[in-house]
Amino acid sequence: MIDFTIPADVVALSDEIRAFVIDEIIPYEADPRLTQHGPTDELRDELVALARKRGLLSFQATRRYGGREPSHCDQAVLYEAAGWSTLGPVALNCAAPDEGNMYLLTKIADDEQSERYLKPVIDGHQRSVFAMTEPDGAGSDPRQLTTTATFDGSQYTINGRKWLITGATNARTWIIMADVPESPTGPGGPTLFVCDGNTPGIVIDRIMSTMDRNYVEGHGVVTFDQLTLPASAVLGEVGNALRYAQLRLAPARLTHCMRWLGAAERAQSIAVEHARTRTAFGKPIGEHQGVSFMLADNEIALQQCRLAIWWACWRLDQGEKGRHESSMVKALVSEELFKVADRCVQVLGGIGISDETPIGMIFRDIRAFRLYDGPTEVHKHAIARDIMRRNSAKA
Ligand SMILES: Cc1cc2nc3c(=O)[nH]c(=O)nc-3n(C[C@H](O)[C@H](O)[C@H](O)COP(=O)(O)OP(=O)(O)OC[C@H]3O[C@@H](n4cnc5c(N)ncnc54)[C@H](O)[C@@H]3O)c2cc1C
Repeated sequence: MIDFTIPADVVALSDEIRAFVIDEIIPYEADPRLTQHGPTDELRDELVALARKRGLLSFQATRRYGGREPSHCDQAVLYEAAGWSTLGPVALNCAAPDEGNMYLLTKIADDEQSERYLKPVIDGHQRSVFAMTEPDGAGSDPRQLTTTATFDGSQYTINGRKWLITGATNARTWIIMADVPESPTGPGGPTLFVCDGNTPGIVIDRIMSTMDRNYVEGHGVVTFDQLTLPASAVLGEVGNALRYAQLRLAPARLTHCMRWLGAAERAQSIAVEHARTRTAFGKPIGEHQGVSFMLADNEIALQQCRLAIWWACWRLDQGEKGRHESSMVKALVSEELFKVADRCVQVLGGIGISDETPIGMIFRDIRAFRLYDGPTEVHKHAIARDIMRRNSAKA
């Protein structure tokens, strides 16, 4: 039986997070260090210091590293509260890509790798990147990987080009996906490596101009030029990168849904207030049926998304891998929240597209959410394949 009762300690923590975000983080939304390329590192450090002071930093981490290790269902409640401001997850150190990277490293890094590359990220002293997508190779289909890591018996030499690499500038923990060619010196296949961002051979070509604005230091185009790493840089086992990426993606997709649900709820609250107080044609605009229906559609969508997230989290908490579930939820939530944000823009009229309220920014960021961690079409393609397979097994 599914039981969505929220434990009292989770309610209390969620209230604490929400109050922290409202009182201490929202004022930073007008800070000029929230740039076209996302919050700068300087702004991020300041926000992280505030969460650290309140004892809320990296609440999602394992107990081993000082976190509270909430269940997936508990995370759904906590991340939604954090997402009320798009800067909330940045402050609390539960934003992408760090949060997903922490999860992955917790699962597969060895002790030495954890100490050097995971612990400082959990402590908020170091940021991380996950470098998979390529201009001419890996994207929706990671098997198209073209970046290579050639093994000479003691070291790997990585060459290739990546783009859309979130937070590349100044990040110190780098997780890189590259293909190891089969050779007499060892096994091959798509492999994850972990290394320091200051290693010679990692070249940040440029930061892309994008429509979103909430990922620290934006998204980079990166060249790996004779990047030489020791065998100890292999994360997990050679040839297992795609399996590990899936391990990261199922929960990471859901945490994106949770954070953006919080942001969409905020947009709705602003739209409701506007509909209550702005008048046109003799009455508050919210009393015109066209507007009231938009607000009602939003409320229905927000609750649908919340329940879908909780359901997938519940499956993960039961020990399921949740790949199919997280695909369905990611496709549903990213599409529905985009419609919610769009309707909020509409309810606000002209100022909806301005920076007078956070709605315009939320709208642009949620548009991007329909693409990362799998575009909607790719999830639908995977869901349909799964249905067909299950049906053919029954026949
Ligand atoms: C804000 C943002 C942050 C990102 N951060 C990172 C990061 O930190 N690290 C990283 O490695 N990558 C990152 N990415 C890249 C992201 O993972 C890719 O954008 C995503 O995997 C899609 O790949 P692509 O952009 O190459 O699109 P493509 O693979 O070129 O696909 C383009 C379009 O083709 C369609 N399509 C593709 N396959 C199918 C299919 N099977 N069925 C139907 N239609 C299909 C979809 O509509 C898709 O949108 C980020 C992207 C964004 C937008």
